[in-house]
Amino acid sequence: MSVVTIKRISNKVKDSDRELLKQARRYLAGGVNSPARAFKQTKDQQVFIVSEQGAKVTASDGKRYTDFIMGWGALIHGHRYPAITQVLRSALKTVMMPGLTHPAEVVLAKRIVESVPSVEQVRFTVSGAEACMNAIRVARAFTKRSKILIFKGCYHGHGDSLMAGQTSGIPESFAKEVIQVPYNNIDAFDRIIKQAGESLACVIVEPVPANMGVVLPSKDFLNHLRRQTQKKGIQLIFDEVVTGFRLSPGGAQKRFGIKADLTTFGKIIGGGLPIGAFGGSEKLMRLLAPIGDVFHGGTFAGHPLSMITGFASLKLLRSISMYNRVEKLTTYLAEGLRRSALHSGVKIQVNQIASMLTVFFTEKPVRCFQDVLNTHKDQFALWARSLKGQGVLIPPSPFEACFVSTVHTKADIDRFLNASDIAFKKVRLQ
Ligand SMILES: *Cc1c(COP(=O)(O)O)cnc(C)c1O
Repeated sequence: MSVVTIKRISNKVKDSDRELLKQARRYLAGGVNSPARAFKQTKDQQVFIVSEQGAKVTASDGKRYTDFIMGWGALIHGHRYPAITQVLRSALKTVMMPGLTHPAEVVLAKRIVESVPSVEQVRFTVSGAEACMNAIRVARAFTKRSKILIFKGCYHGHGDSLMAGQTSGIPESFAKEVIQVPYNNIDAFDRIIKQAGESLACVIVEPVPANMGVVLPSKDFLNHLRRQTQKKGIQLIFDEVVTGFRLSPGGAQKRFGIKADLTTFGKIIGGGLPIGAFGGSEKLMRLLAPIGDVFHGGTFAGHPLSMITGFASLKLLRSISMYNRVEKLTTYLAEGLRRSALHSGVKIQVNQIASMLTVFFTEKPVRCFQDVLNTHKDQFALWARSLKGQGVLIPPSPFEACFVSTVHTKADIDRFLNASDIAFKKVRLQ
């Protein structure tokens, strides 16, 4: 990247932008609607995005960025992919909020069922958080048990019990229903199963966690969960809100050859509009009202515009060669980052699978949440700020994943790598 370019994109924040931030903080709690957008973890300035296209976004101060946040994983085809915006425009000519069932709900449901072997029926929600909440409700209704097991560092939306220990405002009685175990720790898991297996309704897991940064399951970990839960009649829920349609057309389950009892989806399946879904065998899904007595519903559940953009997005993902191409590009990014760090004398670990990766500032392998907590977060913050200054936008948190989309080019990746060369040197000199 030329000196001139760097100078141009590191221009001072305009006065109008300062005013916008002031107003945001006046009228929105904390200036945002989701805390990570405040850039607090990287001690950086909040960004307002005013336009987006492909792999690029433009901020309110006119600065352009190559984006690796990608809607926190929702945008597998980049921003405003033409075929997706086109179906949206055309749908708006006939529909917006019917309030009753629209055929597109059936079409997207069929698509998901045909892609993910363990899923025979689905229900749509407006968010991934709701999908997880409802999948757990179905598991509890089916097993007539109340306790759930989650893994530390995995995120399943901001539902009450699911955030036990991470936010205030959760009654102790809710937290008591949740048992937390370190990810990738088979011994700790087995101890709980032995002690409390008969009281567990479900085990919910991100098959590949993306919300403590990307952490890969160790060999046999997921298979072990499958075997043990099956033995004890515990429902295994795979939270594939990130991994669904990203790790393979059949998600993490297809990639690893494991079948969950219930699966949750979100992000990618909406093609950029709000969505969530949960699904499983017909036997389980028949528990839902109006057939059964488990309630799930919502004014905007299965919103036709999300169905239509979601279907367009999944239809574009049909070819395996597309998955291969994005994975290759992401591997190229991971390898380049490792080489660059080594060259600069900065110790990092890059965890990568398919089109997602996280850079951890540590010399030790990162396999669980405690490992993530032990990383150098100040180094991450400096690195992320330097990248942003150079026009490369990554999630402003050491607990998130960078995402590569089908529209990123090798030039976009090289831009990341070149900026990172400079950023690692800054970290080294710190
Ligand atoms: C994003 C996410 C959720 C929550 O989805 P929302 O649409 O943000 O409510 C749940 N699980 C995982 C694994 C996620 O990444």
